[in-house]
Amino acid sequence: MPPLSRRLAVLPVVASALLLASCTSQVQAEDGFAKQAVAKLLPGQESPRLSGSTGVLAQAAPQIPAVVAPAGPMRLHPRPEVDCDQSKCVALTFDDGPGRHTERLLDHLAAADVPATFYLLGQNAQKYPETLHRMVIEGHQLGSHTHDHKALTALSSSQITHEIDTAAAIIKDLTGVHPGTVRPPYGAHNAQVDALIDAPLVLWDVDTLDWQHRDPAKVASIAMEEVRDGSIILMHDIHESTVKAVPELIKRLKQQGYSPVTIDELFDGQEFNSSTAYASRNQIR
Ligand SMILES: [Zn+2]
Repeated sequence: MPPLSRRLAVLPVVASALLLASCTSQVQAEDGFAKQAVAKLLPGQESPRLSGSTGVLAQAAPQIPAVVAPAGPMRLHPRPEVDCDQSKCVALTFDDGPGRHTERLLDHLAAADVPATFYLLGQNAQKYPETLHRMVIEGHQLGSHTHDHKALTALSSSQITHEIDTAAAIIKDLTGVHPGTVRPPYGAHNAQVDALIDAPLVLWDVDTLDWQHRDPAKVASIAMEEVRDGSIILMHDIHESTVKAVPELIKRLKQQGYSPVTIDELFDGQEFNSSTAYASRNQIR
């Protein structure tokens, strides 16, 4: 935990960013995010954690007007726009959390200045509201991995809808953010599941098998062997071994010229339709 003085120093930064955002009609249009974020993230809440002396919020401070001015989703942590038509892009995705190792993962991502997309379980999101706040403030994307991880292909229509709607309501209620994409548990989907999900289904083309081998070196080596331009890498932030693998994986991706981006950034400028499953930027599955 940073010293109290630094935590307090950051509060006005967050407050002014959110209030500035609430004055921007473009941002208000984003699902009332700013208004809800002010209500949810500030009053009576401890300020978000910083990851060190170069915490992302501290870095964000001088650039806040530039962050809230452009159209598009509000993002407190500014990063250069990446054009995935011009750059080699990859999306790091983490399923099944949040869990007790997720804060450490957020520290690693902040230190490397890299965004990720989190496919959250509704039932776990409820247990870690502060971690969800931190994901939003630090520029990560929130997605739905359903409420409690049932294979949707084994459920009735009403059960499928319940799994999707419950998770979305919990995430929205905790953060003000609607999870705009869904990752079905086990990647299990069919025509019935697709038709019932009013969002793109995001699968993966690189499976690190991190849940199976629990070996940080293998997470990085499998990912580097299989990654292509436009890949979506599947990992699980509930495993400590996976979280340990992330700094080395990011280092090697950057060495090979990859820009890590969120799922929304990966598909920016591409067709990205509801009720359609995607395995990578270039692959409908
Ligand atoms: Zn899962």
